Amino acid sequence: MSPHAALTPNTYDAEPIPEAARAAVEAMLQSGDLFRYTAPQDAPVALLEREFAAMMGTRYALAVSSCSAALFLSIKALGLPRDARVMIPGFTFAAVPSSIVHADCIPVLCEVGENYRIDLADFEAKLDDVQAVIISHMRGHTSDMDAIMALCEARGLPVIEDAAHSLGTEWHGRKIGTIGKVGCFSFQSYKLVNAGEGGILITDDADLVARAVIMSGAYEHNWAKHMSGADVALEAAFATHQNMLPLYNLRLNNLSAAIIRPQLAEVPRRVADGRANHDYVAGLLNECPWLDVPASLPGELRAPDSIQFNLVGMSDADTRAFADAAAERGVKVQVFGLSQDNARAFWNWNFLPGGIPELPKTRAMLRMACDTRLPARLKRAELDVIAGAILDAITDVTGPKRVYGT
Ligand SMILES: *Cc1c(COP(=O)(O)O)cnc(C)c1O
Repeated sequence: MSPHAALTPNTYDAEPIPEAARAAVEAMLQSGDLFRYTAPQDAPVALLEREFAAMMGTRYALAVSSCSAALFLSIKALGLPRDARVMIPGFTFAAVPSSIVHADCIPVLCEVGENYRIDLADFEAKLDDVQAVIISHMRGHTSDMDAIMALCEARGLPVIEDAAHSLGTEWHGRKIGTIGKVGCFSFQSYKLVNAGEGGILITDDADLVARAVIMSGAYEHNWAKHMSGADVALEAAFATHQNMLPLYNLRLNNLSAAIIRPQLAEVPRRVADGRANHDYVAGLLNECPWLDVPASLPGELRAPDSIQFNLVGMSDADTRAFADAAAERGVKVQVFGLSQDNARAFWNWNFLPGGIPELPKTRAMLRMACDTRLPARLKRAELDVIAGAILDAITDVTGPKRVYGT
């Protein structure tokens, strides 16, 4: 390791959990009341659901064990037949196609462009052949949701938003996760709100949420604890689906909810700081001719906690050398398509039924797309160190050394 390494900020540490969460957890450890359905009402998980729905402006929320569980339950709650085809972008996390396979459906991958957004021509070309769509807002990058919704609505296709990493992002003033029929979020530690593990789905659809609630593990009449006040449509949906659906038991526990709830108030600050940090570093990197941070789409207001940039005109060998040089300078840069067994490289998803598709555009993007964490808590001086290390690493591989043929 070079002497720089000791000075570079740790980008993997999370923020401390707010003090209020500690008191709630301590009380729960005393009472032992950890299961969401023990209390007759107002368990921490139920309160989290109400608060999250209110924050997002949706009618319903269901908290579950992970975003993957939320995606799986969303697909199941759509009532798709076995082997239904579900479109996803070719650039996403392996958990997304996995949730589709787990729901006995078949993932169909569409191309993603150099700007990490869905290639709409390929999306449209494949759309008549699918029964549902999951839009993964990968690393918080938003594809053209107006075009996507218009194409899907014209065909009556339900859209699930995988907003695991997009809490706080807006699209023309609308909150990401509220545009499709269902939105799914993650509380895993590398996301904006950290409970170690956890997820939540939001929707305005009473029938869909009733199905998801029951399948999440609301056995017998525990669904009643998901009602806050009179809701004729929801009550009717629970009555319709009582005893008709399998239970997958993907519930969240009260401890996790207690850790999440006080963090919801922190979301606006984390979003604002994360965006400012990202845009500052993007400005520094974009001055280098070898680096390109793709611009946001018009109408997209992001909530990043990491930065993605493309290496321009570099060979795979130079790209690897760059990542090594950055690591040597204390900054971990992941090249999605070059690190072994990367979970975001579609060619590693050997579990896909029917084999791995050809996606040449997505493949080319993944081989030059770099990823560095940039948590909201970082300060200007730390951002300068990170940007400086990246720029110096570029000089390491493109500088005088190369002139001499190494
Ligand atoms: C993290 C992530 C997931 C999975 O979330 P879990 O809560 O870990 O299941 C899915 N999609 C995207 C885009 C993610 O970033």
